[in-house]
Amino acid sequence: MTGYLVETETPKGYKLKLQTGLFINNKFVGGSNTIDTVNPATGKVITAVQAAGKEEVDMAVEAALDAFNGPWRKMSPLERASLMFKLADLIDRDNEELSQIETLDNGKGITFSRLFDVKQIAISLRYFAGYADKVHGKVIDTEGALSYTRHEPIGVCAAIIPWNFPLMMLGWKLGPALCTGNTIVVKTSELTPLSALKVAQLIVEAGFPPGVVNIITGYGPITGEALSRHMKVAKVAFTGSTAVGRAVMRAAAESNLKKVTLELGGKSPNIIFDDADLDQAVRWAHKGIFFNHGQCCCAGSRIYVQSSIHDEFLKKFKEYTSQTKLGDPHDDDTFQGPQVSKAQFDRIMRYIESGKEQGATCYMGGNQWGSEGYFIEPTVFTNVKEDMTIVREEIFGPVVTVSKFDDVDDVINMALDTEYGLAAAVFTKDTARAIDVSNRLAAGTVWINCYNELDYNTPFGGFRQSGIGRENGEYALDNYIQVKTVKINVNRTP
Ligand code: NAD
Ligand code: MG
Repeated sequence: MTGYLVETETPKGYKLKLQTGLFINNKFVGGSNTIDTVNPATGKVITAVQAAGKEEVDMAVEAALDAFNGPWRKMSPLERASLMFKLADLIDRDNEELSQIETLDNGKGITFSRLFDVKQIAISLRYFAGYADKVHGKVIDTEGALSYTRHEPIGVCAAIIPWNFPLMMLGWKLGPALCTGNTIVVKTSELTPLSALKVAQLIVEAGFPPGVVNIITGYGPITGEALSRHMKVAKVAFTGSTAVGRAVMRAAAESNLKKVTLELGGKSPNIIFDDADLDQAVRWAHKGIFFNHGQCCCAGSRIYVQSSIHDEFLKKFKEYTSQTKLGDPHDDDTFQGPQVSKAQFDRIMRYIESGKEQGATCYMGGNQWGSEGYFIEPTVFTNVKEDMTIVREEIFGPVVTVSKFDDVDDVINMALDTEYGLAAAVFTKDTARAIDVSNRLAAGTVWINCYNELDYNTPFGGFRQSGIGRENGEYALDNYIQVKTVKINVNRTP
């Protein structure tokens, strides 16, 4: 576990030994080049990590294939589960170090890293570990034959994950892949590679056989593309933008028709009726858009407020938003840190400019915050028209539009007028209306009187162009098994 360890410290002096190699076959190895990863709070380089070219992708896939056909397959489900539980315990043990790394590399508030991201990966591992010995088929009555199904692993799975929740996304992929008996090659985002490489060290410590989990970093169009196109990868799970999701699916189609699951973008509507508990709606709407600096695929980025409470909502929303702390992500009380990268910062600022140019009112925010790093003020646009770019496109930053509505049918039409379908929310005290509206919305998740509440045991994924397949919950297992029908003749004749 030497060779690629880099000693550094956070701006607040927390000492870290960062692993920067590619994790293949339980060893850290070099790549075909390196990528600098940056602290988005300062814009300064933290360190360089190894980047996998085609050759290293092949090495990782071969390692995963050997493990799949060898030790992993021979282990009993309970043995696999116990390794997953062990890994979850080690992650909890090292919560502080993992949190420091995640906050340094990604920019999210340290309290969120500690209480959310690091906990979530351990939770996913434990939840799915419990399934390892409970994934089984059915007996089906067939005349003259005994028929049963087996739920078998698929083989080598590739996971291409984004930078917004580096550890949680790792957990969402590792959990269901491993409990069902697959092996995996994970490609982390080139913007946030460091925390997963700490988990890689814990995978060795937990005692996983070499090759079961491989974690490599690299550029999307090189490393990600090579995995999506690989003839020995049997399944690819991707989380990120809709444009790249399309590229992954195309590569799968043009190679070996590997199974594809996609968790893509969104432009999720958040509908607030005039009978809602307004103070609660304000707080949830705030969490809906500004949690993780707006870098959530399910962010409630289009708020629709019934006309009679529109002005009051705005006033309270501004007041509440102004109280939350924007600043150094290593401070315990920081709610909002920097955007993840210069590219994302520039992209979001361009959207803000387009909102102003197209005639929306910038009700609050709209500027860079501070003079270093990639901070953006929480930004609220009003007087928007539904065809404006800021209402139509996923911004993936702390920018929200607030529109008025009078009538339930009108707001549903506005909510549905998007190619996306990841999430939606409705705020009202009228249960019948809440259920009626939630049934009519096109979204993989609908929240009633809350927002951005995800649980490890409820499925998450997209309608429409927000994705294919579900993660979390029992539904996630379907993506990692293939069903074999076995028929034993009893008294049939040919
Ligand atoms: P992205 O989709 O480009 O990157 C996500 C992952 O895909 C990264 O690991 C990246 O290296 C990889 N990738 C890139 N090109 C690839 C290719 N051709 N083949 C295979 N893998 C490839 O996202 P981004 O550039 O980091 O962000 C751009 C936008 O994507 C954001 O503004 C946001 O709208 C969206 N996004 C969505 C999510 C989500 O959770 N749904 C997460 C991150 C970004
Ligand atoms: Mg970084």
